[in-house]
Amino acid sequence: MAYQQSLVSILKASSLSLPVLQLYDSYRRGTFDFLPITDNQVSMYACGPTVYDYAHIGNLRTYLFTDLLRRVLMANEYSIKHVMNITDVGHLTSDADQGEDKMLKGARKQGKTAWQIAQYFEQAFMEDLNRLGIITPKIVCRATEHIEEQIDYIKALQENGFTYTTSDGVYFDSQKLERYGYLARLNIEGLQGGKRVELAQKKHHTDFALWKFSVVDTQQGDRQMQWESPWGIGFPGWHIECSAMSEKYLGTRFDIHVGGEDHIAVHHSNEIAQCEGRHGHQQANFWMHGYFLQSSGEKLSKSGRSILLKDLIDKGYSPRAFRYLVLTSHYRSHLQFSFAALDSASIALKRLDKLMHEWPLQGKVSGELLQQFLKHVNNDLKTPQALALLWSVTKGGLSDADKRATLLAFDQVLGLGLASDESAMPFKVSSIVPEEVEVLAQKRQLARINKDWGLSDRLRECIKEAGYSIEDIKEEGAEQRYKITLLSV
Ligand SMILES: [Zn+2]
Repeated sequence: MAYQQSLVSILKASSLSLPVLQLYDSYRRGTFDFLPITDNQVSMYACGPTVYDYAHIGNLRTYLFTDLLRRVLMANEYSIKHVMNITDVGHLTSDADQGEDKMLKGARKQGKTAWQIAQYFEQAFMEDLNRLGIITPKIVCRATEHIEEQIDYIKALQENGFTYTTSDGVYFDSQKLERYGYLARLNIEGLQGGKRVELAQKKHHTDFALWKFSVVDTQQGDRQMQWESPWGIGFPGWHIECSAMSEKYLGTRFDIHVGGEDHIAVHHSNEIAQCEGRHGHQQANFWMHGYFLQSSGEKLSKSGRSILLKDLIDKGYSPRAFRYLVLTSHYRSHLQFSFAALDSASIALKRLDKLMHEWPLQGKVSGELLQQFLKHVNNDLKTPQALALLWSVTKGGLSDADKRATLLAFDQVLGLGLASDESAMPFKVSSIVPEEVEVLAQKRQLARINKDWGLSDRLRECIKEAGYSIEDIKEEGAEQRYKITLLSV
């Protein structure tokens, strides 16, 4: 990576102060000033992927959020101890401890061992992170390499009286904790008294497995991942790995725990319960959650399969455009994914790339604009406002060289790779014509049928302003009498 001037030093050179960093904490349900436990150092744990399949673009939005958070912390001159786990055992197909191990299911489907599956999909996941410009966490730890720590954790919970054993495993007794489910503000009584749920051998609906005994299944043979334990041969439950590994690398209390919003109700509630059961307090000062990527009208999956980053690349899109699209929305709002939205992101990014390559080097960063930018991102990562500021800089009064330098400073946080070698590579900017352009084209066709050439010309201008050209097709019997093409930017 090329040498980057520290953003704080740029502010200092202009005698400007660094805006206060505030982050939203899901546990306290509010935005608070962020101060780490240790000066200048942030300890952060992120729940990683379950490596039984490819990560889809919705999963990847969560890792882009974590990367943004990390870059904002770096911009604030914190050194970051960032730990991410790889779930390669114990994640059952149902969050309620039902179903089979996702790894085993994947292995059987592909005729491979669970170990091969885990290795393959972990590598595919790390490649996706790389393509999206995500900085690799300092420590990436696998559940299967921390079985001893997980067994020790369960032993401690047992000594503190939080466990019970059934014929299929060792469970955490959630009723022993007064504040179980506080993070999700779970209505426990409502859950217990509500619709009948399949308890299997659990005492309460919200209890969860700490250790599951292996099922003797000749079909699965040596594909099954299993270990000896004080309770019997088996494998750890999904939630215990994060408690055991975060404690090993970050201690019993650390600064930030991140994950997807889908983790709030079960996985993170259970991680908190485990820590409270062992130590009498929960582990993180801030719990932060990235919200989902949703589809608007179009299906996020095709033939039952979710859209992958690879699918976007195969269609000619740049992973950088997906990153741009994710930045257009705040991490705590649901982002609607559509190919039309990805097209707009591609067009915007391509415009930026063009400017950055045209503008001269050797400019100076504007301290005032950098301070405004940091105000937005330090305000709980408000990237839509940060992007709006970026565009106003491109149109503003700075010299072109200074605009370039200022945008490059912003990009330390945005991570779009502006002016990088990659940004000089061509990529697709549009797959479909936006609806409003289609409407203009139809109005123009009607004007031509009515021989209203003036209106037809005006509508052609409108279409051009929207970035498209229209060409009439003279062929007899042609279904559509015009062709719309995107003007090159
Ligand atoms: Zn986790």
